[in-house]
Amino acid sequence: MKTVSKQVDITIDSEKCVGCRMCSKVCFENVYQWDEENKCAKAKHPEDCSLCFQCEMYCLGNCIEVKTVTGQFFDAFYRKSGRGVDQNEKA
Ligand code: SF4
Ligand code: SF4
Repeated sequence: MKTVSKQVDITIDSEKCVGCRMCSKVCFENVYQWDEENKCAKAKHPEDCSLCFQCEMYCLGNCIEVKTVTGQFFDAFYRKSGRGVDQNEKA
């Protein structure tokens, strides 16, 4: 299951979701909703995400990934420039 908005890309691996619902408990922006049919949480309102990363940290299934489009851009930029890259990674 993948939901994409302009700024935020939230991915939930539904195979790993254990149904703890910590994502909806900790998200103060009400991004998540429980999908009873698929027995998995889903990011219903990713456009409201404020990038606090609490859902990623508290997810008991370790199955949420929150990425920013901006973050991806800067990651690519730093990798290209050679900055921000771990020395072991360069070898
Ligand atoms: S990063 Fe924060 S605001 Fe965004 S979905 Fe997760 S808990 Fe909600
Ligand atoms: S916190 Fe993770 S494991 Fe728990 S319901 Fe949400 S997505 Fe599923």
